[in-house]
Amino acid sequence: RGASLTDLAEKIGVDAASLVQVLFHLGEMVTATQSVSDATLQVIGNELNYDIEVVSPEDEDRELLESFDIEFGEDEGGEAELAPRPPAVTVMGHVDHGKTKLLDALRKSNVAGGEAGGITQHIGAYQVATEVDGTERKITFIDTPGHEAFTAMRARGAKSTDIAVLVVAADDGVMPQTIEALNHAIAADVPVVVAVNKVDKPDADPTKVRGQLTEYGLVPEEYGGDTMFVDVSATTGQGLDELLEAIVLTADAALDLRANPDMDAQGVAIEAHLDKGRGPVATVLVQRGTLHVGDSIVAGPAYGRVRALLNDLGETVDEAPPSMPVQVLGLTAVPGAGDSFIVVEDDRMARQIAERRAARLRMAAQAAGTRRKTLDQLFEQLEKGETQELLLILKGDGSGSVEALEDALSKIDVGDEVSLRVIDRGVGAITETNVSLAAASGAVIIGFNVRPQGKATEMADRENVDIRYYSVIYQAIDEIEAALKGMLKPIY
Ligand code: GDP
Repeated sequence: RGASLTDLAEKIGVDAASLVQVLFHLGEMVTATQSVSDATLQVIGNELNYDIEVVSPEDEDRELLESFDIEFGEDEGGEAELAPRPPAVTVMGHVDHGKTKLLDALRKSNVAGGEAGGITQHIGAYQVATEVDGTERKITFIDTPGHEAFTAMRARGAKSTDIAVLVVAADDGVMPQTIEALNHAIAADVPVVVAVNKVDKPDADPTKVRGQLTEYGLVPEEYGGDTMFVDVSATTGQGLDELLEAIVLTADAALDLRANPDMDAQGVAIEAHLDKGRGPVATVLVQRGTLHVGDSIVAGPAYGRVRALLNDLGETVDEAPPSMPVQVLGLTAVPGAGDSFIVVEDDRMARQIAERRAARLRMAAQAAGTRRKTLDQLFEQLEKGETQELLLILKGDGSGSVEALEDALSKIDVGDEVSLRVIDRGVGAITETNVSLAAASGAVIIGFNVRPQGKATEMADRENVDIRYYSVIYQAIDEIEAALKGMLKPIY
């Protein structure tokens, strides 16, 4: 991805100029440092009898870390080294259903380790404590409501959430973004706890919410299903303790949340900014190991020595165990939300890894200008066997047209080798939420008589999401069918 002939030359130990010549003879004019497509690399490979495998950025980063003897995402040691860790929770739901107010209410009600009334700082995440069956249990909340943050992180391959709390206002019921949020959680394979909010309102109908969500596969426990629904009011505080308990019970039932606290820390950056006085400040969620003051750390393309750690009460702490969010001071640059962080042996190693990543980001940015993830490329991937499934998100001007489109798409006969799956559908303009889901899951968006809204186009460009517009159903079907069939024939 975004590789140049110089990179390839280095990898296979030949002179870059000779690769330029090879391509020239094949009819392509490319300079040695220009980024070329995966397909072009394959062509050179065929010509020179090299088996060229194009690796994803994630694989490339894994290789980079491996070259320093670092493995990201694995707990060192065996079962004996693992200790229980608190769940990390994201709150999602339709706009105005009370996500922000609920996060605030939970934060104030029950701050872990803080005295009552302790003033919490907004650092992007916080921990609360609750008692379940006589034992004190902690829960970490990612303090950015909405699924944008959730999907942005997932698009970068970072899994930061163990459980999703789906907030549904009892006076409003299930709304389009409720379903979008649910789809995000399902796509990420994250268990859901439903907070039926605003039950203090006179027109609240929590039973209706249960019925509505049952239709989407979330069956309440009291109806024999396995999803916990809790009636809450972010305004009065009703049900908050029950919600915390439901989160703990769901984590215990569905997940095995354990981590090795005795290794160099690893995790994910969830928020970062440049502070005038303190320099780059990043909130990280420790996922395994324990982070200490003085550790050499690399977070995405940023690195540094941990100068200070601050908890969610703004207090300085010496260390942060698994699932604890902390602010890290001492980085030389601001990492991105969703970037992984790792503690490494020394500053030198941290700097080397960060510099290699920064160089790669520059190249990728350059390449993104010339390459887009288009439907054609997806088909190419399908052909290479990298993907067996074409994922689509359908947006249309009316529920009738969306249904008709989905219906017609489902009738395309593409054989057994590949499948076509609609992961989300809806009426209305193409939103940033649609784009973020597409980016996170590698889907193509089909717009039927609708246009993008707000910054959706900009975001699609940035995230390399392909949006196709149609105004006649058979055109959409023809094009997708033709491409799918064409894809079954080899290109070379
Ligand atoms: P968000 O867009 O999902 O983050 O929603 P907010 O947290 O901003 O809440 C939207 C509106 O609903 C605000 O005016 C809140 O005060 C109100 N609200 C949130 N939770 C409750 C609740 O439990 N009861 C009542 N009556 N109002 C609530």
